[in-house]
Amino acid sequence: MTNSQINRSDSYPHLLSPLDLGFTRLRNRVLMGSIHTGLEDRKRDFPKLAEYFRQRAEGEAGLIITGGFAPNIRGWLTPFGGTLMAPWQVSRHKLVTNAVHSEGGHICLQILHSGRYGYHPFQVAPSAIRSAISKFSPKALSARGVERQINSYVRASSLAREAGYDGVEIMGSEGYLINEFLAPRVNKRSDQWGGSAENRMRFAVEIVRRVREVVGKDFIIIYRLSMLDLVPDGSNWEEIVTQAAAVEAAGATIINTGIGWHEARIPTIATMVPRGAFVDVTAKLKPLSSLPIIAVNRINTPELAEDIIATGKADMVSMARPLLADPKFVSKARNDQAAMINTCIACNQACLDHVFVGKSVSCLVNPRACEESEIKTVITKQAQKLAVVGAGPAGMACALEAAQLGHQVTLFDAADKLGGQFQLAAKIPAKIEFLETIRYFSTAMKAAGVNLRLATRVAATDLADYDQVVLATGVVPRVPAIPGIESSQVLSYIQAINNPDSVGKKVAIIGAGGIGFDIAELLLKDRDVSPQQQKREFFQQWGIDPQFEKRGGVAGVKADVGVVKRELYLLQRKPSKPGKGLGKTTGWIHRLSLRQHKVKMLAGVEYLKIDDQGLHIQRGGNTEVLAVDNIVICAGQTPQRELESELQAMGMQVQRIGGAEKAGELDAKRAIREGTLLGLEI
Ligand code: FAD
Ligand code: NAP
Ligand code: SF4
Repeated sequence: MTNSQINRSDSYPHLLSPLDLGFTRLRNRVLMGSIHTGLEDRKRDFPKLAEYFRQRAEGEAGLIITGGFAPNIRGWLTPFGGTLMAPWQVSRHKLVTNAVHSEGGHICLQILHSGRYGYHPFQVAPSAIRSAISKFSPKALSARGVERQINSYVRASSLAREAGYDGVEIMGSEGYLINEFLAPRVNKRSDQWGGSAENRMRFAVEIVRRVREVVGKDFIIIYRLSMLDLVPDGSNWEEIVTQAAAVEAAGATIINTGIGWHEARIPTIATMVPRGAFVDVTAKLKPLSSLPIIAVNRINTPELAEDIIATGKADMVSMARPLLADPKFVSKARNDQAAMINTCIACNQACLDHVFVGKSVSCLVNPRACEESEIKTVITKQAQKLAVVGAGPAGMACALEAAQLGHQVTLFDAADKLGGQFQLAAKIPAKIEFLETIRYFSTAMKAAGVNLRLATRVAATDLADYDQVVLATGVVPRVPAIPGIESSQVLSYIQAINNPDSVGKKVAIIGAGGIGFDIAELLLKDRDVSPQQQKREFFQQWGIDPQFEKRGGVAGVKADVGVVKRELYLLQRKPSKPGKGLGKTTGWIHRLSLRQHKVKMLAGVEYLKIDDQGLHIQRGGNTEVLAVDNIVICAGQTPQRELESELQAMGMQVQRIGGAEKAGELDAKRAIREGTLLGLEI
């Protein structure tokens, strides 16, 4: 980037400066990366998709990439998934492109051929090798079949141009078809499409070359290049550099970074991945390519994005989930309102976890995501005096929405801080991001005029003057009826979180739900480590080469968690696999991490008693004593509704949300959604 290209706005001058591509100019360096929302798959959902993208363009995203569209049926992700393969599909895409252009934005269509990751029987791949994450085996492509796939990319690109897109992104990473051709891991061909590095690269290069031929010079071609496969027998660094040069010569406009195949057993975007963990690999390629290069993964604040551009590590920054969480991310950054950004906390709970069970995508911190056409704020004509009791996620969401509608809202909490259980969650080493949600609500509620009354435990009589009361009083931890539970060696999860140093070296955790797993992580890891150390430890724990020299970024690198701080037992009564109920895209990470730390996860346990010897249990007909220093109780919760009956007796209108409504299957996704929807109904 030259100095003349830098827009000297007060905040984030590098991030907010335009990027000149010669034939077109992007208004800033923020790319909304591709995220599959589920709205791509049905024609009737395109108006919603158009509104979803329109709002991101209105929020000033520099360039938007759609979710992946397959170029043909063999490339489907799932049966009847979104495709762009026929002229009759063009008109629905025009809704999307017109919506984005009406807000001055740019948008590219991502072409994604699933290869052996397709979840259907028609999948194809360079060789007939099934992936661990699909139950279907691919058919090996014949030489004519390879040509047909290339032609499909070309046809999709040409249709994308007709539909008004500003360009295409050709998905060459994450273990999908193009990436499969590139890696010796699954490309076992001996024809011109396999064998040598040059042959394995040919498929990618031919696609870019032939697409450029048909779309002309003034059309963006982004090539998503897998810079770190994170699987054995992936590409090596030399091949990655050669590939970058080859796609440039073939006509690519921009190179985007891809990190990790979906089958890799290494986390790449979940909240335990340190912010910007993979930026260095993009930075390593940057001086070796003359194309603009995009950095990706776990970049969720304008400060970090600005730093990446300002220090020359990349030319653009991709943020997909952060713009799902807040469509106005860029405009808020530009207007010095960064504290009002609703930050993505990388939980995956409402986005990727939904994709993997076939549900439309939403967002834990922004329930409007992908429902922009349905969930709207309409200013009220009749302002009410509303009391919200409890400033956890449910109460904060409700108070904010109601205040934005124009109601007079007072939010009470017994604690001296906002956030409820989110304050506890944020003390888990990998969940510090949760503080961002509290910061967002705090700033937004102030701007909306919510009257905040912290350190105030309210009684029913304090609420007599209000028109309506919302109980968002959350939950209280369940204390299981185990003989000896009152012993001093037994701790609640709240005590353990607030004072982890007081917990002994040998510990039994009763309850293997989300909180049980979090307590285990808390007792195994240090909380106060610098970002640099966090990154070092992350690479070491998951066996990633920090120099990015090894094949796939992992060949010969040993995963190592260092000295294990405590000996832990994680227990549950159910016979099923501990952690089965955790998120689809993060549960495996929690389970694997605890296994790496040698945690003994026991299912089918009956708790007999607690005494000076420790915790007595029965399992599979045998009794045993776990001779532990402490027992931490993570046995779920029950609703906290102490005010309800008194308020009803006073004739008051009372509504419940979050944990106060139902403690079972409670999580922040439900709490925030319920709070938002009730706030809009008041
Ligand atoms: P709470 O957060 O419990 O808030 C209730 C509030 O009401 C409290 O602040 C309390 O002080 C206040 N209150 C109660 N009675 C009164 C009164 N009489 N007067 C004034 N104030 C009162 N969820 C996820 O979705 N993902 C996660 O990864 C996740 N991780 C977690 C990790 C940990 C360690 C913990 C403890 C929880 C985690 N959760 C997670 C759960 C999540 O925090 C809860 O589901 C969510 O906080 C529930 O929100 P809520 O608003 O209903 O209740
Ligand atoms: P949970 O997930 O429901 O787990 C409760 C655990 O307690 C289970 O393992 C259960 O297993 C055990 N249990 C229940 N009753 C018991 C009893 N009477 N005696 C002994 N054990 C008992 O609840 P949680 O861990 O408290 O988490 C609360 C909510 O926060 C959850 O809904 C969770 O989704 C959310 N959360 C999510 C995450 C995340 O990463 N996504 C992290 C933390 C929390 P058995 O009945 O088999 O013994
Ligand atoms: Fe981010 Fe969680 Fe929202 Fe997904 S659901 S966009 S990870 S905050």
